[in-house]
Amino acid sequence: MAIAKSEAGSNSMLSKTTPGLGGKHGLYSTNGVHELLECPVCTNLMYPPIHQCPNGHTLCSDCKIRVHNCCPTCRYELGDIRCLALEKVAESLELPCRYQSLGCHDIFPYYSKLKHEQHCRFRLYNCPYAGSECSVTGDIPTLVGHLKEDHKVDMHDGCTFNHRYVKANPNEVENATWMLTVFNCFGRQFCLHFEAFQLGMAPVYMAFLRFMGDDIEAKKFSYSLEVGANGRKLIWQGIPRSIRDSHGKVRDSQDGLIIQRNLALYFSGGDRQELKLRITGRIWKEE
Ligand SMILES: [Zn+2]
Ligand SMILES: [Zn+2]
Ligand SMILES: [Zn+2]
Ligand SMILES: [Zn+2]
Repeated sequence: MAIAKSEAGSNSMLSKTTPGLGGKHGLYSTNGVHELLECPVCTNLMYPPIHQCPNGHTLCSDCKIRVHNCCPTCRYELGDIRCLALEKVAESLELPCRYQSLGCHDIFPYYSKLKHEQHCRFRLYNCPYAGSECSVTGDIPTLVGHLKEDHKVDMHDGCTFNHRYVKANPNEVENATWMLTVFNCFGRQFCLHFEAFQLGMAPVYMAFLRFMGDDIEAKKFSYSLEVGANGRKLIWQGIPRSIRDSHGKVRDSQDGLIIQRNLALYFSGGDRQELKLRITGRIWKEE
């Protein structure tokens, strides 16, 4: 048993995948069967194929790959034995969603639970900050605090904005210029992203809005963005995307205001050596 507990990485994995919400502490843990379904190595719930060693010690399929055919509990050779009885027992169980303590009160047959949890509206959000790897997750108030404190993101109140983007060497499109500004309006938060990337052969800039909340709510809002100079203007009207959709996914779907670099430099005025864009925008609620 000591071997299993000291297995490198298993504890840190636990804290990532079960943020204090393991079924162990759930209200509906009325039978020990539920505990039998926890992998003794990683403590995650096991889903078919559930494996066992010749002595009957169970483990999940992820852990089976990691332990190199050696039972973590008794060190016996693992082989390829499936624990069909346990898989069948699991079928008869109903368990609460793992986000119960965050507000989800639904109960699910064992094998539907995982699927629900992937889409549960109470699950945590990933940090919407782009441009660096950030693994922070949380509810919206936590993430707003995190953006302010840890990423020093600019926060603005109001549903209209007028934002200037300046970059000294606009030819370096490849090393991802990106910026994030957060707007507070209608008591909600919206992330305005601005970034440079290569669209096919063409260097472009793109601005788009993401909503800090679920997709279903994001759809209740609309926004517009405008950029221009010298009597020319580009206008984009769209619907903010939920931060459930990653920054990269939104960018790759081109769901935002896209400005060709030549045009962006034209809008910047001057000698075209510096990017100076003024983007104005508005967010409103659709009734
Ligand atoms: Zn496991
Ligand atoms: Zn064993
Ligand atoms: Zn749920
Ligand atoms: Zn972050």
